[in-house]
Amino acid sequence: MTAPTPEYRHSKCYANTRGGCSTSISGEHYISHALIRLYTFDDPDVRIQPTPNYRIPVAIQPKKFVANVLCAAHNNGLSDADRTALTFAAFLREIALRYKNGAGEWGAPEEVEISGDDFQRWVLKLLITHAAADVYMDKDGTRVKTIVPDEAIDLLLDRAMWPRTWGLGVTGDLSNSHLKFDPFTQVETATSNWWSAAPLIKHEPRLLFGGIVDLAGVSFTLCLFNQSEALLHDGEINPLRRVIQRPSALSWVFDGVPKTVRFRWSDPWKHLPITFNMRR
Ligand SMILES: [Zn+2]
Repeated sequence: MTAPTPEYRHSKCYANTRGGCSTSISGEHYISHALIRLYTFDDPDVRIQPTPNYRIPVAIQPKKFVANVLCAAHNNGLSDADRTALTFAAFLREIALRYKNGAGEWGAPEEVEISGDDFQRWVLKLLITHAAADVYMDKDGTRVKTIVPDEAIDLLLDRAMWPRTWGLGVTGDLSNSHLKFDPFTQVETATSNWWSAAPLIKHEPRLLFGGIVDLAGVSFTLCLFNQSEALLHDGEINPLRRVIQRPSALSWVFDGVPKTVRFRWSDPWKHLPITFNMRR
């Protein structure tokens, strides 16, 4: 591997828009390797079978669940994002495994603080990696080819500030059936069904416009456009209905005892907490 040069643009690296590539392409995990290890109990013999859209016909080791779409230099620059997602998921999963959907212990108040900026970047990275590798599918099973806009790369590499109306969101209304907010009452979210990614696509040209990423039973929306109107639009089919942008915290309260994830943000926008009161 050679050091990155300011002008070099590797043709296979999706983050090559302004140079800074190294000459070697590195396997970029579709979903962070550390997260797969967490959810497979770090079992070295574990194999995963990706769904058909990934064009990987056999069961593979988690470390091989990669797309060759990012150079080594740009890949290395994004490791904080992976670590942040791991902290988020590990915190919620640990509580879920202890709580056992009510058969175990909820325990004492607990909280963890993570960087909202890095978490937002992780969601964006996951959506872009899937777009760059052409693995999104339509409902009818045809492959969806999307263009990743240059602005998305600038945001991913922290070269630009997120506009206030763009970015990460979490549902503020549990009647929005598109978005999840329950890490604790379905055992699958702590074992097998712990992540997913779906794009939002603008048509003609087909531009990656954002998406919805689930992690540990919580859905995160990400918009690469002004979402102000969509947040207010009350239609059932609108996935962005009453989404709260960049929350300051997510709390789940059971019998008055909270479990809280706090998000640190470097932007000057307003951040509100979201609380979910769990019932027996
Ligand atoms: Zn690169």
